Amino acid sequence: MSKSMHQKKPNFIDEYREREAATRILEKIHAISTKKITIMEICGTHTHSVSKYGIRNSLPPNITLISGPGCPVCVTASSDINRIIDFVETHPDVTVATFGDMMRVPGSYSTLSEAKANGADIRVVYSPLNAIEFAEKDPDKEVLLFAVGFETTSPTVAATIKIAKEKGLKNLSVLALHKLTPPAMRALMDSGGIHIDGFICPGHVTAITGSEAYAFLAREYKAPCVVAGFEPVDLLLGVYMLVKQLEEGRANIEIEYSRIVHPNGNKKAQQVLLDVFTPTDALWRGIGEIPGSGLKIKEAYSGFDAERRFEIPSGPEIEPDGCDCASVLKGLITPPECALFGTACTPERPVGPCMVSSEGTCAAYYRYKSL
Ligand code: SF4
Repeated sequence: MSKSMHQKKPNFIDEYREREAATRILEKIHAISTKKITIMEICGTHTHSVSKYGIRNSLPPNITLISGPGCPVCVTASSDINRIIDFVETHPDVTVATFGDMMRVPGSYSTLSEAKANGADIRVVYSPLNAIEFAEKDPDKEVLLFAVGFETTSPTVAATIKIAKEKGLKNLSVLALHKLTPPAMRALMDSGGIHIDGFICPGHVTAITGSEAYAFLAREYKAPCVVAGFEPVDLLLGVYMLVKQLEEGRANIEIEYSRIVHPNGNKKAQQVLLDVFTPTDALWRGIGEIPGSGLKIKEAYSGFDAERRFEIPSGPEIEPDGCDCASVLKGLITPPECALFGTACTPERPVGPCMVSSEGTCAAYYRYKSL
């Protein structure tokens, strides 16, 4: 990005939504773009902003902007949803606490919402700390926090475990199914299924991890990365910075979202994560097992590990009939290429996770009609 673009960077949130500013950046993208390139955005909130503001269709035809596995509930394995449903249905003495977004996500056969309707004790939390409140209020009942999410969520879950330990809580445990973003990006690059020239990296995740977490993509894969914010001007600036790098044959890690993101991230949040969790292999819905892409509770906090406290057996990954979320999550197809999109599968009657979640790619395409 040129110095002059930096000097013109907006200061207030409304300016990041200004049509004139967006148009100017779009013109610059069109002016410099000559190469046929494919860019992936790897954040569900970006996916929705891209669709909402019509960014995909406003880019030059030689730029393809695809969505990756950036929706945390969508990448939660169907077998993990199945096993928590089986568990709560057979353990009436346990309360399962989870985020609202998880409730309607289909496993292989049913959802947490359906299990709750059938009498299972499942409660929605707005913060993981709510699980502590449940546990303190009813000390005779076990509370299990079914925790999913990327690096934005996992530090709060880690802090919850630390607080529970400090309070001496004996009836709280966590089924930690968190995912780490950079290993998934490596897996996509290694998969050979899709060619990606560069990444628009997630703003919130990178506020925690720091942009240095993507250095390997530039170094090993020659793939430039730009961390972008969520407003239309943010995203267009991000695309401009990425296109400029690719046109100039550079592969660097740059930050458009510098009002929030720093190269080294949030050290305090990283420390809390390190205190409680250690990386482990994790199963991603539609993608499979990715080495080092999950988080396991460390020995020092093993008393809060639901996997050690209970038997929660896993089964096979089985996707709903006809659902092509696996290909959507890998960026191999766009949602309208799924035969069920908009017909058998809608936000009111979702078949797969990508149509349920507020961050799902299919939901974004459907809601904003970005066909
Ligand atoms: S449209 Fe529905 S069935 Fe098709 S991939 Fe998306 S969520 Fe799955």
